[in-house]
Amino acid sequence: MTGVLDARARDEAIRTLAAGPLDVLVIGGGITGAGAALDAASRGLRVGLVESRDLAAGTSSRSSKLIHGGLRYLEQGDFKLVREALRERDLLVSRLAPHLVRPVPFLYPLYKKVVERPYVGAGLVIYDAMEGVKRPVPHHRHLTTRGALRRAPALRPERLAGAMMYYDAQVDDARYTVTVARTAARYGATVVTRATATSLLRDGSRVTGASVLDEESGRVFEVRAARVIVCAGVWSDLVHEASRVRAGYQVRMSKGVHLVMPRSAIDADTGMIVRTSKSVLFFIPWDTRWIVGTTDTDWSGDRAEPAVTAEDVDYILGEANRVLARPLTRGDVLAVYAGLRPLVAEPAVDKGGESRAGDKAGDKDGEKPTTKLSREHVVDAPLPGLVSIAGGKFTTYRLMAKDVVDVATADLPGQVPASVTAQLPLLGADGLPAVRASARRLAGDYGVPAAVAGHLIGRYGSLVTELLDLIRADRTLGQPLLDGFPYLRAEVAYAVSHEGALHVEDVLARRVRLLIESPDAGLSAAPEVVTIMAGLLGWNRRRRATELRRYREFAAANAAALTATGPVPEVESAAPIPA
Ligand SMILES: Cc1cc2nc3c(=O)[nH]c(=O)nc-3n(C[C@H](O)[C@H](O)[C@H](O)COP(=O)(O)OP(=O)(O)OC[C@H]3O[C@@H](n4cnc5c(N)ncnc54)[C@H](O)[C@@H]3O)c2cc1C
Repeated sequence: MTGVLDARARDEAIRTLAAGPLDVLVIGGGITGAGAALDAASRGLRVGLVESRDLAAGTSSRSSKLIHGGLRYLEQGDFKLVREALRERDLLVSRLAPHLVRPVPFLYPLYKKVVERPYVGAGLVIYDAMEGVKRPVPHHRHLTTRGALRRAPALRPERLAGAMMYYDAQVDDARYTVTVARTAARYGATVVTRATATSLLRDGSRVTGASVLDEESGRVFEVRAARVIVCAGVWSDLVHEASRVRAGYQVRMSKGVHLVMPRSAIDADTGMIVRTSKSVLFFIPWDTRWIVGTTDTDWSGDRAEPAVTAEDVDYILGEANRVLARPLTRGDVLAVYAGLRPLVAEPAVDKGGESRAGDKAGDKDGEKPTTKLSREHVVDAPLPGLVSIAGGKFTTYRLMAKDVVDVATADLPGQVPASVTAQLPLLGADGLPAVRASARRLAGDYGVPAAVAGHLIGRYGSLVTELLDLIRADRTLGQPLLDGFPYLRAEVAYAVSHEGALHVEDVLARRVRLLIESPDAGLSAAPEVVTIMAGLLGWNRRRRATELRRYREFAAANAAALTATGPVPEVESAAPIPA
């Protein structure tokens, strides 16, 4: 039990799953499924997880990447959600994952001199007060107009009436999800990606496991488990439908789009949050980039790759340009990405028949807009042996996992221990202060530049020596993967040997983030990635060519979202700042 997801050991992992029986089988390898696998495994249960694509390939790599209470949910009166989320944020920043979750400042510009400051200020007092006693992030502060412009010269000075500064936290969502899955493996869970649960096994009405399609080989195998937990995000309804399960909730998909831009496009040394007519817009610092978003619109199309439209891009640019002195243009945008929020809608009205899972969430006219739907999660136990969870936020995944495993194991024979994940640092968190303090010595010992050691510690925490060992064994792995980016060739090898990456897309989209960070969607790094992966996975010429073509097609589809987006939106120079 090492916490290693070695892509070369996948067949063995499948054999372990098929040999069964398990206590718990988790369907879905987003943050909810990875969290549930960790929660159950660390209670001493025998756990398996199947994911139909790659870890975090769904919503969990496409979020705003904030670990936050959600200031706007406070305004909506969702106090419970905000309080829980803030406590989770602080736990992750201080104890469970300080190597992955970092505090980030946000500037909230004010435009209404008299009314806005006391209103927003009071909100932030509550926001700060909802945290636990020990504060790993600073308190909010008031800024004058001059102070605001000093931190964010990019803001239009007209009508600016100062600002508030508060703190939340940010994370590489895909890296975090992989780390949770690896930590689950560390406690004995068997994790298999590119494996789809196609139907549930039954003994009468009791669910006893799942039939699983190995997407790599086309083979089908069965996994027996005392409990099956569905963590399929926006695919939940499909999983229920495939086995004619009447679930007590339905998922409503809400699409959120983000634009990625270079830091030079917006002159500010802090994140920013501004109100829009519909919700809020975040400017999130992302190393040498900005992530700007998001949108919130109903979606009913392709779940795997939701399309970005001209309207989405125009909306974000238009809203951003209301507050920026130098308007953003399409030329500033390096990449776009879209994700689907698995919002929990009212349970469908039972219209009879064996299943109601396929019913729509209600009459379109009577539906709430998705911005108003609760971000809280729902746990449902529609059949004996089966539990299903959806909704929630990335930030609260640990609580969601605890809740769903509590329900799933409530009637398991024998005493199942309570959740221990609040005391369980993720892989890479153990000994982090000492590793950070020894960065210079590590660099010397391994003969790498200090910046390389710093970069690796920032991404892998105390696991850094595993990567440095790879570099020591093969110095070429210490070279950059792509000029202008900090990623190393060693990170590709490590993605295969320790993080379960099976395809080029897994590496470039989620283990490193070149898909959304580089102007060509990581295409120029793809041949190098193929070479490194081929060496480890024994790919022949034909397989290499196939992998390269697959990634080209994938990257082209992503890039197409940018080019198909019509003219740059008009900037209304005197556009009002929405209240
Ligand atoms: C635009 C946007 C911004 C967001 N920003 C934030 C934020 O800043 N902070 C925050 O806290 N939250 C945020 N969220 C919410 C958060 O990202 C989601 O709540 C969370 O990622 C959902 O995770 P999940 O595991 O439930 O779903 P997913 O990540 O979608 O995982 C479900 C997985 O199940 C797999 N699957 C489906 N069917 C099967 C099957 N039959 N067999 C095997 N596997 C299957 C899928 O491939 C998928 O990987 C945001 C969401 C969006 C869309």
